[in-house]
Amino acid sequence: MVVLTAAAPRVDLAARGAARLVRDDAWLVQHLETLWARHFADVRRANPIDVAFGRPWKTRLGLITLGEETRASYIRVNALLRLAGAPEFIGTLTLAHELVHYAHGFGSTLRRRYRHPHQGGIVDRELVARGFGNLIEPYRAWLDGCWFVFYDEHVRLFA
Ligand SMILES: [Zn+2]
Repeated sequence: MVVLTAAAPRVDLAARGAARLVRDDAWLVQHLETLWARHFADVRRANPIDVAFGRPWKTRLGLITLGEETRASYIRVNALLRLAGAPEFIGTLTLAHELVHYAHGFGSTLRRRYRHPHQGGIVDRELVARGFGNLIEPYRAWLDGCWFVFYDEHVRLFA
């Protein structure tokens, strides 16, 4: 799960067209497969994965849960990341973050490798090891600088 805690400062969202919907569930499915092939090919696909956009949460970008009966992994991504105003790499790293949880056995049927999903920076370490290191700082910077303003200006689109 990606949880946001920082308060939001000033940001210029003047970018026109920020509210256009440019990503849908099909994009997520395709993007997940691409990420898997390029960065997670060593991870066994132990159970089915269902990925889709979820709700426009204020303090969470994504989550992964394991269906108790279906034994499928459900990855949900914040609906606001469908918008053109959300950089594509935010969706990329959000998906990669949830796939790291999958690989670690959280929200999947794989053997659980740690006691807690965010224990001691294990997610970021794994993201770096899997080739996402260049996205981590820009991701934080966008979340710290832009997210809450972006949220406030667009959440009504999903009411
Ligand atoms: Zn997480």
